[in-house]
Amino acid sequence: MLEEELRAKVLSEFAKYTGQIKPAAFFKRTHRFIPEIERFHNLVTGIFKPAWSKYALCILMKQGSIYEHKDAYVFLEDGRWMMDYSPRKGGLDISDNVALANCMQDKVPVGVITQVTTKGDKQIGSTYQILGLGIVTNFNLMQNVFEIQSVGWDILEDVTSIIEDEEERYQIQLYARLTNEFKPFVKEEPAKYLVTTSKREASFRKILMREYDYTCAVCSLKFKLENLFEAQAVHVVPKKENGTDDPRNGITMCRTHHWAFDNGIFSLTDSGRIILSDKIHQAEKSNFPLSEMENQPIIVPKNELIRPHAEALTWHRNYHGF
Ligand SMILES: [Zn+2]
Repeated sequence: MLEEELRAKVLSEFAKYTGQIKPAAFFKRTHRFIPEIERFHNLVTGIFKPAWSKYALCILMKQGSIYEHKDAYVFLEDGRWMMDYSPRKGGLDISDNVALANCMQDKVPVGVITQVTTKGDKQIGSTYQILGLGIVTNFNLMQNVFEIQSVGWDILEDVTSIIEDEEERYQIQLYARLTNEFKPFVKEEPAKYLVTTSKREASFRKILMREYDYTCAVCSLKFKLENLFEAQAVHVVPKKENGTDDPRNGITMCRTHHWAFDNGIFSLTDSGRIILSDKIHQAEKSNFPLSEMENQPIIVPKNELIRPHAEALTWHRNYHGF
């Protein structure tokens, strides 16, 4: 595999894990998860440059580093994160810093990870959060920092173009943006998509089905036989209101609960508890599977990043007059 292709493949695979917290082994023995590559980072220095490339592959913000105050990230207006990253001590001409400067010059993205816990944590040891794919936009001479932003649509399209299957490519793009600030409406995203509408809808559905294990988050109903399943992927802010395909605007429900949610017969609190509308008392009904569910928590996926975002749930409550 050519270096550029290898890099695009590895970064696309890596992007699927955006936002997740992983132990050291994930980065040091990466071939167990991404067979194309031995390691994604050695976790020794901040900037990791593999022998096969002149570009840095991944950068790490260590916990407790003396630069820590400088390295916290902020959100740009379009929701992407941005942070300052201190070069390795020893001058800009040492090889690690050159490798990151090469990324800046040629607009080559890097993986960005931040340490969450250290070895001193006896329960879980060192862990690291995958912040996602970043692009080095500038070196600020005055402050002696690289400026790094999460990748925008064009670079993300470019990197993931190695993935031939359109649905899989769009799924990676949705995962890759999970550490960006949540924006509930499509109008805040550029309207330029290379993937067709139906493939985008299928990608949204597949992510949610996998993350919620084909189960209704309200009543835990599940029926799955190969490609036959009862649960549906629900947009909290619906498509017709310009709701985004960001998985944080999604939830899975059985058909009855999907219908009831879309019609405002119930909504959810920010923490995911069921609230019932007055409609439920006014309606004629029998065996309606909601009446006894007031204040019950919904079932959420293990991946905390995929849970319905409070901003989307607030929209749903307001829209339906809760
Ligand atoms: Zn249900």
